[in-house]
Amino acid sequence: MADVPKGGEMFSGSGVVLVSGGAGYIGSHVAHVLREAGFTPVVIDSLVNGNAWAAEKASAFRRGDIGDAAFVREVCQSFSPKAAIHFAAFIEVGESVKNPQKYFANNRDKAKIFFDTISACGVKHIVFSSTAAVYGEVTENVPIRESHETKPINPYGRSKLDAEIHMRTLHGVTSVALRYFNVAGAAPEVGLGEAHFPETHLVPRIVLPLIGAPKPVQDALGLAGGFRIFGDDYPTRDGTAVRDYIHVMDLAEAHVLALRYLIAGGATNIFNLGSGAGYSVKEIVAAARKTLSRPDFNPPVAPRRAGDPATLIADSGRAQRVLGWSPKRKVENMIATAAEWHRMPVYAETMLKKAAG
Ligand code: UDP
Repeated sequence: MADVPKGGEMFSGSGVVLVSGGAGYIGSHVAHVLREAGFTPVVIDSLVNGNAWAAEKASAFRRGDIGDAAFVREVCQSFSPKAAIHFAAFIEVGESVKNPQKYFANNRDKAKIFFDTISACGVKHIVFSSTAAVYGEVTENVPIRESHETKPINPYGRSKLDAEIHMRTLHGVTSVALRYFNVAGAAPEVGLGEAHFPETHLVPRIVLPLIGAPKPVQDALGLAGGFRIFGDDYPTRDGTAVRDYIHVMDLAEAHVLALRYLIAGGATNIFNLGSGAGYSVKEIVAAARKTLSRPDFNPPVAPRRAGDPATLIADSGRAQRVLGWSPKRKVENMIATAAEWHRMPVYAETMLKKAAG
């Protein structure tokens, strides 16, 4: 695995940071990086989707719901955080279309309760885990800037945008919304990685069959028939959809920089986080073929997945200029770390437990 230099001073800080959803994929990596940087991350998570092992990276963990104001108040009274990072949310676009109420109730309404409660308890700075889905179907002005109009095309994107907007109305609070593009990779060296159930994301769906993940795990994730490319008739260079992939550890470092920016007096802001480079599904397949030494890997093409836009690429120039952030890890590193992570027993155990209900 490629070695990536540590940012040293750039990532150091101190103080209690409340991390909602810190037992999830991105939240757990952020809690780990915060702790390494010198902060004291206190995780709250309902464990509806999160995993207790992932919360262990935090300085403290309390199980509970962001919509439970009494619970949130109690945690704030115990730890007196001045800053918070909010992840806790449902993330499946397809599910949000089928069950919008679940997304509005959790991602919007409970987020409002959470924001109101923590700001009343003295939290002065909030970093919010947002998404490129707030932009909707973008056909012009690509790469996408933060000033691009927001026109979500599904309840997931709408619910996250509504939460962002509410956050910016909080009195006496400065905030940053981080709009992520496609996140991948893991930190197997500290036992962290992606453990979604079901798993819809491209990189794990490529990697799991290639590393020969246990059959019950592949079956549970709908991978029994192997990996398939969803559509090769898009208006892109090779016909497959183009996305902007970012390593979860680069993303985690951006959260620390955003936090430092707010603590240092930075104004409320929005930052896109991507690499600025697009990869097609076929290019990711080629990178996996090389990285995992599987020259025989030539997956079949299936029809398009409903709702998938052709191209999504971020302009992350603002994050680079204002936060001094730049992504360092390449696609090959995302695939290699994901492969290493998905081979770990804790991953298979977690999937089998979730599959069993
Ligand atoms: N994709 C695919 N096969 C899969 C999963 C995903 O071809 O089994 C494609 C998907 O259609 C999209 C790209 O990979 O074009 C990235 O999908 P992902 O779900 O990772 O992220 P999204 O961009 O949808 O948030």
